Amino acid sequence: MINPSVEREIVDNLSDLMIDSSKVAYVSDYHNLSHAMLILTAAKYSIIPVLNKESQLVGLLNLAVIVKAITELDGINPEKLEEMKVAEVMLDLPLQVTLEDSFEKVFHALVDQNFLGVTDRQGKFIGIITRRNLLKRLNQYFHNLA
Ligand code: AMP
Repeated sequence: MINPSVEREIVDNLSDLMIDSSKVAYVSDYHNLSHAMLILTAAKYSIIPVLNKESQLVGLLNLAVIVKAITELDGINPEKLEEMKVAEVMLDLPLQVTLEDSFEKVFHALVDQNFLGVTDRQGKFIGIITRRNLLKRLNQYFHNLA
């Protein structure tokens, strides 16, 4: 267990590590794959969150799952880009956290995931915590140690 006083010194509030949802590129589960592909390409991230109409985080999307979904035995079927919805192909959601969770939980989860979705108490998506932001904060903490 991380000593609670050390935890507080590293980060007093998890919101300090969070990228606000307004700055997060995401796709909606009801978008078709063609639209999702445009968003993914413009976002320049390999994998981004999927939200539903209620702004809940429901999955993740990357280009690989889109390509797999439109690939048939005899080649790529571009019509499927228009026909299929993100909800049909998205990847399962890994662990999400709330701002009330412990730093330790976030720290452990970011060993395996390169970002975590953050939700409020009602399950609404409010942002992400990335491995980069955590490492930047740890770097700052270590440099400030007397
Ligand atoms: P980083 O630790 O900054 O490399 O980010 C890790 C991952 O988090 C990226 O590969 C993306 O999948 C996701 N990510 C980071 N920033 C954003 C953002 N603004 N919008 C959507 N996804 C993001």
